[in-house]
Formats: sequence, structure tokens, C-alpha cells
Amino acid sequence: MDLYSLTIKKIVQGLTDKEFSCKEIIDGFLDNIAQKDKTINAFITVLDKEAVKQAKAVDKIIAGGEELPSLAGIPIAIKDNILVKGQRATAGSKILDNYIAPYDATVIRKLKQAGAIIIGKTNMDEFAMGASGEYSAYGVTKNPSDLDYAPGGSSSGSAAAVAAGMSVGALGSDTAGSVRQPASICGIVGMKPTYGAVSRYGLIAMASSLDQIGPLSKNVEDSKILFDIIKGRDKMDSTSCEIGEEFGVKSKEVTELVIGLPEECSGKGIQKEVIEVLQESVKKLTDKGIKIETVKLPHLNYGVPCYYIITPAEVSSNLARYDGIRYGKSKSGDELLDTYLNSRGEYFGNEVRRRIMLGTYVLSSGYYDAYYLRAQKVRTKIVEDFKKAFEKVDIILAPTLPTLPFKLGEKTNDPLSMYMADLLTVPANLAGLPAISVPAGKSGKLSIGIQFFAPHFKEDLLFKIANFFENEIH
Ligand code: GLN
Repeated sequence: MDLYSLTIKKIVQGLTDKEFSCKEIIDGFLDNIAQKDKTINAFITVLDKEAVKQAKAVDKIIAGGEELPSLAGIPIAIKDNILVKGQRATAGSKILDNYIAPYDATVIRKLKQAGAIIIGKTNMDEFAMGASGEYSAYGVTKNPSDLDYAPGGSSSGSAAAVAAGMSVGALGSDTAGSVRQPASICGIVGMKPTYGAVSRYGLIAMASSLDQIGPLSKNVEDSKILFDIIKGRDKMDSTSCEIGEEFGVKSKEVTELVIGLPEECSGKGIQKEVIEVLQESVKKLTDKGIKIETVKLPHLNYGVPCYYIITPAEVSSNLARYDGIRYGKSKSGDELLDTYLNSRGEYFGNEVRRRIMLGTYVLSSGYYDAYYLRAQKVRTKIVEDFKKAFEKVDIILAPTLPTLPFKLGEKTNDPLSMYMADLLTVPANLAGLPAISVPAGKSGKLSIGIQFFAPHFKEDLLFKIANFFENEIH
């Protein structure tokens, strides 16, 4: 049996039943990383020594007959923009090449409390800007299913690590689709929680009004296990809140759910093969007695332009802290200004610079109203579209990506086509909604995902329908 192909649930079971030791599990994953990661390049840092040490400690607890915490011994990979105390956190950028995290992010503290083993820090597009994994300062990550293809991004390493059996689960961050999109391309499950459901404390900020940390996993059940551990109010993040039954989440049975299919998802800008997979999924759901209704999201096509104004604005502000003095690498000059210019000029990559320039432009006096303010109004329109749609339906279904998976190098010279990869994922971030991507079809060796959206804080419905789709239908 390949231990590294097991799910979280199965490993927990196996450890409890003493089918294998935790050391065997961790060795299995580390061997797999040693074999595959030279080619795939999913990890920036592998925490092998720490992982083995923790595995031995878990084995001791088992030998002592004590009860194990819920995730004891489970290897989890962490995107390199989430802080793990004492370890490097580069966010995929040269400017943070020498940065060591001084504390644990809240999600890490929670994972550690549950006994999880952090197996490594994963590769990503620089500061989470990108959709292919090619904008990392630490080399391109390859798609484990076909090495000529991009794994998607920006949580490229987290998705590739889970898909290649180099970790059981992973955390990523999703600002416009960076968990769901690589999950879809790598053939795994990726979930973006409601804005505020998971603390962002210790996540290196990209666009703070959109960023959320979410799990990547082999199946929906594992996704829920990870989400249940990381969710909840945290006093270190004032935008976070408690989530659960007390918020009026009345659970419906799966077969009582009405699913909305946006008219706009079968039209312009969506590739034929993707529409076919969506239609097959709809048929499978209706065959099982689930009601599907057409809904309208009239501002869907404005999501990408709106996002590429709001995000650069927030990025230009958030990334101002990398000044060659407070964090990371520095290249000093004669004057203070030279230190800023030299450090930022030397250590930021091209996409990051593009965003900072766009951001300062849309915020500049004279342009603020025409761009930033107008984009905020469009954002409200998108929020209203969903509100209206959710008056009629419980869940909304859409493809995760508008196109088939793409080859490495295919979009790197064309930023606009890279941005268009976010077409169907970005609306959930703009509206703060939870969404989950699950595998639904194939194109050759590569996967095609679909995603479900739910109203705010109705993660339970999301997991229910995704689980049903995965087990009963697929
Ligand atoms: N493609 C998006 C971007 O480049 C991805 C952002 C994200 O979700 N981190 O901005």
C-alpha cells in the first residue's frame, strides 16, 4: 500500500488501529518528496527533520496508550505566505528571501494544536499574484499529471504537493481563486471560506479585503476536516468571526437543495469543453433528483476588471512595507530614497511591479473617482447579483476555470489572458462568499473542475453538496 495515497481520515484511522506508525507515514511522504520534487518543485522549504521528530513524538503517545489529538501525525503543506514560527516565509519573493517568521499564523497555531505535522512550505506566485505558478522567484512548479502543463496558481505548490502525494493536505490563500483554480487544474478539492470565517493573522497580506486562507485536499471530507480546524473568531483579526449553527445555518437535506445555474456560464469567454463538463454535471445532479434553476449574474463579466483595480490598489498599499529596512532584503544607497528604490527595484518581480504601478495610478488624485471608486461600486453590483440569485436558490454552480488547463509558458507573455483565468473564481472573493472546487471531468491526462458557491457562512451546505457530487455521482 502506498501510504502517501491515503486521505486524512484513513491515516487517522490507521494510526489509531496501529496499522502503521507515524514515522512510517512521514518517511513515506518525505521519500516521495525526495523522488518527485526535483522535477515538480512544489516546495520552497521541506521541514524533514522537524517532521521526523514530531512523528516520533506521536508514536510515543500511541505507544503510551494516550488519546491522540484529531490531526495527530497528519502531514500538511503550507503555502509560503503563511507564517510558521522559526521558518522561512518568502511569499515566493526574493525580497523576503532571508525572512524568518517570528510567530505562528493563527491557522498554524490551530493545526499544531490539533497535532498536524507541517511537512514543508510550498512554492507560489510572488505575493500570490498569478494564475500559473510561473511568477515565483523560486522556479516554476510543474503539473504532476503532465509536466508540460502549469499546475495553476497562485497556490501552485500546495496543489501540486497534494496531487503528487507529497502531502495529505495543504493550506493556500485565495484572493481571486488561488486555492480553487490550482486545485481544479491538479484534480483535487480546493475550498475558499466565507470572508472572515478563517483568521488572516499571520498571512502575508496581498489584498486584505479579499484574502482568505483555505484548504486543498484529496476529497471533500478532508476539506471539511481542515476547515473545521482552522475556522473561527480570532482576536488578532478583527474581520474574523465565529461560524456555526448559532448563525441560523439551518441545514437542508441534499435532495432538498435547489441549485442555480448562471446563464452567463454557458456563454462568451467559456471554452466549449468546459461548458460540456458543466452540462454533464448538471445532468448527473438532475438525474439524482436535484432541482436546477437558471439564475442571472449580469455583472459577472465586470468581475475581472473590477478586481484588477481594487487589488492593485490594496497591493500597492500592503507592499509599501517592503522598503529594504523593515523586512527582508536590503540594497542600501547613499540616501534613504536610494535604499527604497534599490531594494524594491532589485528584489520585486515584474508582475508585482506591474500591480504596484497600477495600484498607485488608480489611487492617485484625479483618477481615484474614475477608477478605484467606480470599481468599488461595481463590486457592490456583484454582491447584489448574488443576493438576488440566492433568494431563488440555495447553491450556485459554475465551472472553476473558463478554459482547459494550459501549458507552461502559454500565458506568461500575455498578462490579460492570465488575468482572464480568474473570470469565474473572482466573483466569490469580491462578494465574500464561500466556494469549493471539485473534480468533474478530464481532458486527456488533465482535470477539469466545477465549483459550488453558497451564501455567506453556509459552508455546511457547500460541503454537503460537494460531498454528494463526489460520492454519489462522480
Ligand atoms: N490570479 C489572481 C491574481 O493574480 C490570483 C490571486 C489569488 O487568489 N491569490 O491576482
